[in-house]
Amino acid sequence: MESGLNPFKIAQHELDKAAVRLGLDPATHEFLRWPMREYHCTLPIKMDDGSTKIFKAFRVQYNTARGPAKGGIRWHPDETIDTVRALAAWMTWKTAVVDIPLGGGKGGIVCNPKEMSDGEKERLARAYVRAIADVLGVDKDVPAPDVYTNPQIMAWMMDEYETIVRSHHPGVITGKPLSIGGSPGRFDATARGGIYVLREAAKVEGISLQGKTMAIQGFGNAGQFAALLGEKLLGLKLVAVSDSKGGIYNPKGLRIKDLIEHKKLYGTVASYSDGEQITNDELLSLDVAVLFPAALENVITENNADNVKARIICELANGPTTPDADSILFDKGIIVLPDFLANAGGVTVSYFEQVQNTYNFYWEEKEVHWRLDETMKRAFRAVKEMSVKEKVNMREAAYLVSVARVAEACKLRGWV
Ligand code: NAD
Repeated sequence: MESGLNPFKIAQHELDKAAVRLGLDPATHEFLRWPMREYHCTLPIKMDDGSTKIFKAFRVQYNTARGPAKGGIRWHPDETIDTVRALAAWMTWKTAVVDIPLGGGKGGIVCNPKEMSDGEKERLARAYVRAIADVLGVDKDVPAPDVYTNPQIMAWMMDEYETIVRSHHPGVITGKPLSIGGSPGRFDATARGGIYVLREAAKVEGISLQGKTMAIQGFGNAGQFAALLGEKLLGLKLVAVSDSKGGIYNPKGLRIKDLIEHKKLYGTVASYSDGEQITNDELLSLDVAVLFPAALENVITENNADNVKARIICELANGPTTPDADSILFDKGIIVLPDFLANAGGVTVSYFEQVQNTYNFYWEEKEVHWRLDETMKRAFRAVKEMSVKEKVNMREAAYLVSVARVAEACKLRGWV
């Protein structure tokens, strides 16, 4: 990964371009460049060996003009406040592009969960909620999972919040296990939403995906379900996957369920035997129909964009492509389905989860799928129409749609 690429600077740069094209007044533009609020915490946690370790943690509420802040909590050793700010900004644009009544937020803890026991993770999850409980709530800020957090961690967080407020509030957090207020269809929602957007894009561009190849960088929640649903719903053939330890390539096709089992058992796909080992960079330059970046930000940069041969890039990760790389991909005629459109399925079903929590009545999975499909189709159409109207690529068009919506809400409230 190229160093010195600050995701928040990139997020501001993308916003600046949209603000100029939309003709936003200077105050609205400046307001949207910054988080409305952010919280920095220092959490002392008792470790299993009797020592006390200090963890840095953040929660950023970027913009709440359209509704309560909404966004995941990432646990990662390289987490920084600027990464959280960028992710919170992208959440703001994401909830706006799918037109759900929520704002944007994000959280992060600097830690390496791979080196922590379940007990240590639980104590960290609960301490985080204790630190920021005052600013969380269904009508304030609603977290969810992100990289290296999962339904179990959401369950501990919800329980801690409910212990503090002394009543049930399942809607305070989404991505929970099904048995305690999770929504059917939440687990695969990010990938499913991306697959729906990809299907729409292929239709519009007249590209047939049946029997064509896909490569996936990152084999966690987003990546694994992209593999399963890409095959099931679009007939794509998985030929390469990678994770933080390396990748595997087999032009004849990889057996997805086997790979998932292998990753569960050995913690990586890199040691899977039915294929040849490849690096993450080699995966990005494979000649495939669809490339899914589904790991972290800044992986397609000006240094490797020229080597990308995929026909379509469906960005499930947040911020995988830098602006310089974007222009190179555009010049090469590669269709890029931008992150906050392509990966908005997760937050959309999180919203459905909250709605069900509030009603205390739960939908069938097929209803979740149908509503998600409708939402993603609507969002894709709005972005595509903007891209045609303004003669810009899909990323710029997505920014134009969502920034205009957030700016309008700020104006109507009389903030700017
Ligand atoms: P996850 O923790 O389930 O999986 C992350 C995967 O990325 C793991 O397989 C890990 O090994 C791999 N990885 C980490 N560093 C890597 C590297 N340097 N090179 C290659 N692979 C690497 O996380 P996730 O929830 O699947 O999230 C993945 C991406 O999707 C993130 O950018 C996240 O912000 C985005 N996203 C997730 C959701 C969601 O609902 N889970 C929603 C929207 C966006």
